[in-house]
Amino acid sequence: MRRRKTAIFFLVLGIALSILTVALNVGWILLNLREVVLLIIGIIFFALITTGIILNTIFLVREIRRSEQHDAFLNSVTHELKTPIASIKLYLETLKTRDVTPEKRDEFYNVMLADTDRLLQTVEQVLNAGRAGEKRRQMNPTEVGIGAVLNDSIAAVRTRYNLDDDVIRITEPAADLKVLGNEEDLRTAFVNLLDNAVKYSGGEKRITIRTKRTKLNNKVDIFIRDNGIGIPSTELKRVFKRFHRVADEAAKNTKGTGLGLAIVRAFIERHGGRVRADSKGEGRGTTFIVQLPLI
Ligand code: ADP
Repeated sequence: MRRRKTAIFFLVLGIALSILTVALNVGWILLNLREVVLLIIGIIFFALITTGIILNTIFLVREIRRSEQHDAFLNSVTHELKTPIASIKLYLETLKTRDVTPEKRDEFYNVMLADTDRLLQTVEQVLNAGRAGEKRRQMNPTEVGIGAVLNDSIAAVRTRYNLDDDVIRITEPAADLKVLGNEEDLRTAFVNLLDNAVKYSGGEKRITIRTKRTKLNNKVDIFIRDNGIGIPSTELKRVFKRFHRVADEAAKNTKGTGLGLAIVRAFIERHGGRVRADSKGEGRGTTFIVQLPLI
């Protein structure tokens, strides 16, 4: 009887201890689980907050940069508009108030015409930038000869800068190089590239244009090479962004709006093409390579 009682006691004790152990274990697990869950939630929130802060900072830095570029753009456009207007006004006032010789008058007219061209160029550049931004623009494509477009563009830039014939040289492209697209947009793109090649070159300018047909995929590569100030490797991609201008001493001294290459890229890509810049570095010239699909 005693043994039984003792057995029951130990049995109850065993069961009680087992229950206690299980309760303790489960409790311990539950308690820690809460902590683990809290830890995981904490880590997730921490990661989310950190990502949020990083994204926010990137966004702010970009916005600040963009706003600075907008300011620089507004300043340069205002300057590009104001300078020729001020000059024309001065010449008109002189013509009105003074007796000038016929030769001088002719000279004044020529300066005023050049100033008007400069004004028109700036306005056209801004208008083109607006057109470049239009996503769904109707192109009304026609067959365009690459040779003719390049020759027209060279002629326009030669007149604009009064250049000798041998400053811009072209190896005659094959006559059958034709693309499907808008002739005016293509001319605008090449004039912008040639204009830059002249603008960002020093005294002895040498600009060459070479075309190379890629037989494999029926495309044409057009190389526009200058011997100018060059572009640092870190800037080769960025120069195509709207308003972006290289901040080097050499580039800073040249007037511009930062729109030209963005227009070039938009117009070339609209023709199914691509454009990139290549340069061995500062002072070592630049080559722009335009690739267009042929008909
Ligand atoms: P803009 O000439 O009006 O500043 P662009 O968009 O045409 O604007 O060019 C962007 C920048 O790229 C220029 O400010 C200049 O720093 C650089 N760049 C363009 N073309 C050349 C070139 N041929 N040689 C050297 N730098 C160039």
